[in-house]
Amino acid sequence: MGRATYVGVDVGGTKVLAVRIDADGAVEATATRPMPGRAADADALEEAVALAARDVYDVAPPHALGLSAAGLVDGAGERFLFGAHLPWRDAPVRSSLARRTGLAVVLDNDANCAALAELTLGAAREARSALLVTIGTGIGGAVVLGGRVVRGAHGLAGEFGHMQVVPDGLACECGLRGCWEQYCSGRALERVARVALGRHLDGPEVTALARAGDEVARHAFASIGTWLGVGVAGLVSAFDPELVVVGGGVSAVGDLLLAPARTALVGSLQGTAYRAVPALVPARLGPEAGAIGAALLARDGRG
Ligand SMILES: [Zn+2]
Repeated sequence: MGRATYVGVDVGGTKVLAVRIDADGAVEATATRPMPGRAADADALEEAVALAARDVYDVAPPHALGLSAAGLVDGAGERFLFGAHLPWRDAPVRSSLARRTGLAVVLDNDANCAALAELTLGAAREARSALLVTIGTGIGGAVVLGGRVVRGAHGLAGEFGHMQVVPDGLACECGLRGCWEQYCSGRALERVARVALGRHLDGPEVTALARAGDEVARHAFASIGTWLGVGVAGLVSAFDPELVVVGGGVSAVGDLLLAPARTALVGSLQGTAYRAVPALVPARLGPEAGAIGAALLARDGRG
């Protein structure tokens, strides 16, 4: 028997990211593969996951493989039900990937995996209760209560991005209107910047401009930061967490996003002079959080 290693693979909207951890959770290797060119091909995506995992094998295969996927995962962790950016539809991804790789496989939603990673190794380490909000293309979310990730009756808790914040608001990819992620996400950032500047910039370009002091770009971050705080206030009213961890690519800009969010959180919460307002803190584990959390799930099981 070789020493124990675990592999986690995160499948997002744009890439497949794999990490290998040791038994203590230390990251030993990482690898990234692009999403398959045939984006609608479920089999090609599963093969890309298996190849990304193989990229980080040690001399021996890992003890188990965790898969973190952007979308709805059923309560048993067997099936990937739906994700706007992935081709799987009610697909038995866990068992199928286990057959393909010959490994024990554990499957969960990407935000749940990121929350587990932040809870075990990152920004929520000492917390018994926390919320995770990840802001990327859209919004992902997870709920931690009693020191555990709460999945809900059907595995679907924490889908904060599609809470309606504006009745009859902007149309969302999910088919509804006025979803939170239409106002607070990478896509929202691009839209606000486009309206203000009259030309298209992608998220990283807006971020670079904001960091350089550009007022229009900073205003775009203030807009989505304010929406972040408004939405988080609703979540704080519901869950009363110790802290709220904000991750995802858009959050890399730091206080240009989080400062207006904190102001809006206080302004949108009742009784703030008489209650604890949870800290709004940046995630610590960066873009690998989902993959690291998946590897931890492989180590510990879904619990
Ligand atoms: Zn939606």
